[in-house]
Amino acid sequence: MDIILWGVASFGVRNLPSTDVAKSVGKYLQSLCGIKTERQKGPLGHVYYLNELDGLIRQEMGNPDIRPHIRHYCEDSGQHLEHAWQAQAWKELDPTLATPMVRKGNQDFFVHELARLDNGTLTNTIQFPVHQLQSSFPYLVESCNLDQIPSPHNILGILSENGCECLPWTLTSFEDGFANHWRVLAKGHEVLTFAMWLYCDDTSGNVSKKWNKHNSFLFTAAGLPHEHVHKESNVQFLCTSNLAPPLEMLDGITTQLEHGQKEGFWVWDVQKKAMVLMIPAVLAMLGDNPMQSEFSCHVGLVGKYFCRCCFAKGRDANDEQSASATKDVADDTSIHSNASTEQESDSGAEKKGGRRKETIQELISRAKRFITRTIDTLHNMFITSSQLGGKTKAKEMTTGTGVKDTFFGHFQDKIFAFIRRIPHSTPTEERQGLVDDFIAQNIPPEPSCFSPIWRMKGLDPHRDTPVEILHVILLGFVKYYWRDAITRLDDHQKETLKHRLSSLDVSSMGLSPLAGETLVKYARSLTGRDFRAIAQVAPFVLYDLLPAECYEAWLALSALIPLVWQPVILHLDTYLATLELAIQRFLNCAAHWTPRWFNKPKFHIICHLPMHIRWFGPAMLYATEGFESFNAIIRDHSVHSNHQAPSRDIGRGFAQCSRVRHLLHRGLQLCPSFWLEPVLENGAALLPLLMVST
Ligand SMILES: [Zn+2]
Repeated sequence: MDIILWGVASFGVRNLPSTDVAKSVGKYLQSLCGIKTERQKGPLGHVYYLNELDGLIRQEMGNPDIRPHIRHYCEDSGQHLEHAWQAQAWKELDPTLATPMVRKGNQDFFVHELARLDNGTLTNTIQFPVHQLQSSFPYLVESCNLDQIPSPHNILGILSENGCECLPWTLTSFEDGFANHWRVLAKGHEVLTFAMWLYCDDTSGNVSKKWNKHNSFLFTAAGLPHEHVHKESNVQFLCTSNLAPPLEMLDGITTQLEHGQKEGFWVWDVQKKAMVLMIPAVLAMLGDNPMQSEFSCHVGLVGKYFCRCCFAKGRDANDEQSASATKDVADDTSIHSNASTEQESDSGAEKKGGRRKETIQELISRAKRFITRTIDTLHNMFITSSQLGGKTKAKEMTTGTGVKDTFFGHFQDKIFAFIRRIPHSTPTEERQGLVDDFIAQNIPPEPSCFSPIWRMKGLDPHRDTPVEILHVILLGFVKYYWRDAITRLDDHQKETLKHRLSSLDVSSMGLSPLAGETLVKYARSLTGRDFRAIAQVAPFVLYDLLPAECYEAWLALSALIPLVWQPVILHLDTYLATLELAIQRFLNCAAHWTPRWFNKPKFHIICHLPMHIRWFGPAMLYATEGFESFNAIIRDHSVHSNHQAPSRDIGRGFAQCSRVRHLLHRGLQLCPSFWLEPVLENGAALLPLLMVST
């Protein structure tokens, strides 16, 4: 603050406020139009601070530079695929989360309500263009007598598919007069969905090498077009902590989400110039592979079941035995067959007559089976852990199924510690009784003792943790291959490589000149940015330095990368076919080089990318590079705090920043007490405003 005031003074501004006054103005403005940073006591016992989600959404919707870009409806764009709202996931969004209404003229049409089309049809479940909508539910209620049609309140039930049975009507309720519940809540206002990409990562709070781990949650609006979604200024901060693990903070975030999904968040829509009710929805959970595994209650890449998406299984010594041992928990044969098919294609083995393409419906039902499998396994784990001697068995279950819930793990440890403390002289029956009492008093019941991810409506963590190309490709394949290449070279070849890199003209690739020395000498400690450059130039500098099969593998990788980093897909089916071929070729080349590569799970995970692109859109939309670079800002906040309560200080710091951003963008919003009129004509007026307020 002192430095800013000094800076302003040196531009000749007079009558500056003191630092204290400027601080209190900041505080006042924060209370006026900022968001709150709330103290949370997590279910695992840690204290952390969470910035309010509704406040952040309110600022986005009140931001005249951002708001016009945000979309709320899915779009049928045929084979063209560019934005998240054109992809399947948005179209298949849980119907209670998807935007439930459309406004036409002065009538609002809500889903699950009777309406009339301009051709006279009374309808509820057929497809039709919006312009055909003629009379909405409230209109029908008022005019049914005049028009001599039955009252839309008279709903007896819904015809079963075979048309023989009348099933109870549950989509709207008698209490709401059979109107959509959101219509009742909105009281004549529009109701829109606010879809998000939710991201979590662990980052160091220190600049130095000493690792000071902070877990942070960030999000961006998934309704933003791809050119906006990765701007650093569009990344929103929710919380960070060096104590609370990710799933504990996710619990707080989920509670906020649940509140919004039940009652909606009221915001001022700066474009429509009206209050609207927002329904928050998480489209996908992003992060690196270990984080995404944690979200999916999955054991991680090192487990025998190393894939969080399909539970593909690696081979081990007692494979036959373990297969029969785990049969009771993983008896879904399609899991095995699917997994083994992928396993085979991974290891370059001959395919039996080519794999049929999975349809979206098959994908959904497959994903649903995994979710049931995981939830059932967790339930069994809870029962097993509650028994004497359950610790070993529960551990075996984790290894045997690949299911691991770190949130539940906390409570499991509590139970095991209690069992350990019971004196061995106690009779067995009595001991079990003590354990049961302990659990009843100290452990939350199912399902609250499990990961909050299961409370997130419409989210399937096995499906909605998309392949993240930064970690799988740049920090995966490119890193593996580059390190391998460097270790193969003798000193003389290394010199050659350095010179080739440094003298390569990369200006047309939008890169700054390469530092050959660094890229070769420090091959073991390069960043994603370095690997991005390497991926583009490798074939041009390695051509005569590597054995033919390695070089072939590099070529296959270089062909794959530009396909993956495609911001706009012109024809989805053609694109996906090409991409699948490129992945197969890449895997074949890797196998031809050495099948050892397939010890690395990322060579399997990449196989799921085409499915995720169909589901979520181009891979760049959910690449985490934008979020990763945001980590530097979190670190800055951490470095400049006094380290006493980093979660609170960093949270408040970001709450201030988001308010400043909001004002600089000429943001508008409804304050609890009164309207905040257009405070600023342009951002430059901020300081004079501070003076005026003073
Ligand atoms: Zn898999």
